[in-house]
Amino acid sequence: MWRCPFGDTVAARLLLRCRSARLTGAAGVRIGVVSDIHSNLVAFEAVLDALRPIDQLWCLGDIVGYGPRPNECVELLKSERKHLAVAGNHDCAAIGKIGIDDFNTFAALAAQWTADQLSAETRAYLQALPTLTAAGEFTLAHGSPRGPIWEYLLDANAARLSFDHFEGPFCLVGHTHVPSIFARSPEGDVQAHRILGSAEIELGRPGWRFILNPGSVGQPRDDDRRASCLAVDTDRGTATWHRVEYDIARTQEMMRQVKLPARLVERLAHGW
Ligand code: ZN
Repeated sequence: MWRCPFGDTVAARLLLRCRSARLTGAAGVRIGVVSDIHSNLVAFEAVLDALRPIDQLWCLGDIVGYGPRPNECVELLKSERKHLAVAGNHDCAAIGKIGIDDFNTFAALAAQWTADQLSAETRAYLQALPTLTAAGEFTLAHGSPRGPIWEYLLDANAARLSFDHFEGPFCLVGHTHVPSIFARSPEGDVQAHRILGSAEIELGRPGWRFILNPGSVGQPRDDDRRASCLAVDTDRGTATWHRVEYDIARTQEMMRQVKLPARLVERLAHGW
């Protein structure tokens, strides 16, 4: 009988202990994983404060789009000496690499506003981002390893296909703005879990493979308005999700000042 390694629900604080092998993530020991910052500088700063100390920062795309401070968010990411990043659909749209036909009205308005704000340095940085990258046993993508820019991994069926598109035991994705984990058993069964609140899981399970989503820094969509992020500890072999309070009103005020759509301002207070 198939048994999920994390029980039926991953809720509140879940701490699983087992004598696992150490992970080989990269040279660093503690890696901060962020995604979907969406130009929300206040949230990004709060998340970095909460994650420190970190040896590396990995960003899963959508650094810009929706929010009021695109250049500053890229600058802050670049200031992390050891960082890796991949491009998301909003990053690509902001520099004209993809069209905005598939964006909803508000996302398209924000993408156009963002494109007008970008400095030459920001534009060059976004232009150079890969859509997939790897570090040690981890593959990094925005949407999925199968469709890095656009595919949403929201359920086990979608995730099942993705496991054939990366090597090694771990893949990190964003894009859905929902912190979650997809686990594939040694027999090939796949199960999906949403992460509620803070949670810590043990990663080193022989034969198992995982796709992890840290949730969104700048625009959470799981009815929890706090910024979301993940810390991977390659020494302890754990992944820990954190929810971080930040000054939402300050970001909203910045958005109003630059006349971003009211709906995008409003949603931050609710987490949808
Ligand atoms: Zn996004």
